[in-house]
Amino acid sequence: MIKNQSNSLSGQEIRQNIQRIRENIRAAALECGRDPQTITLMAVTKTVPPQAVNEAISCGVTLLGENRAQELLEKYDSYSLKREHIHFIGHLQTNKVRQIIDKVSMVESVDSLPLAAELDKHARRQQTMLDILLEVNIGGEATKSGIPPERCQEVVKRLEDFPNLRLRGLMTIPPREKNTVFFAKMQQLFVDITDKNRDNRAINILSMGMSSDYEDAVRYGATIVRIGTAMFGRRNY
Ligand SMILES: *Cc1c(COP(=O)(O)O)cnc(C)c1O
Repeated sequence: MIKNQSNSLSGQEIRQNIQRIRENIRAAALECGRDPQTITLMAVTKTVPPQAVNEAISCGVTLLGENRAQELLEKYDSYSLKREHIHFIGHLQTNKVRQIIDKVSMVESVDSLPLAAELDKHARRQQTMLDILLEVNIGGEATKSGIPPERCQEVVKRLEDFPNLRLRGLMTIPPREKNTVFFAKMQQLFVDITDKNRDNRAINILSMGMSSDYEDAVRYGATIVRIGTAMFGRRNY
């Protein structure tokens, strides 16, 4: 059934989708007194062919989100945006760090101290600073990775041991149900962390909200929304 084919949208459809998403972000932001410019729209590229990703880039999308090391390696050279505009957002095994370290400017999915240590080591070898977000398992779900919210302050403190990592904020994938409750918890946690680390002005990113809930995420302070399906159509694995 053609209707169920994924990632086969035309350039024009992608363009229209992006326009609609932008309008929705803008409306949600204005509604709660936020400047729409402070919210970055990320295109989540898993399973999406590079031509479609480049179509989104030609519509002004400036940030890509990558889930898988292997897929990033295969597609990287075809993208019309490079490293500084690419974030890693998927679960990252320590043995894959080496493959992606020179192809992303931020890892949003740092979910353990061993992973942070490995990222720090490879960033140092590259003589670069790597931006990171801590992924928070805000719903305490067994099936999701991420740091339990009650451990975040402690982990933030421990990150000071890694000179080549720069903590920029928090990322989450909330439970499907009652996501606004969890967005609110994330917003509070973000405030707590920025309060306790006032000297660290770099902590200013809250990455949350996907195709089904990005407007709510904007209402709760998201500064990056990560959109796949609403931009590129349904994925076919
Ligand atoms: C796939 C994915 C998204 C985008 O999901 P959609 O519902 O397709 O918008 C966002 N964040 C992460 C971490 C993802 O893996």
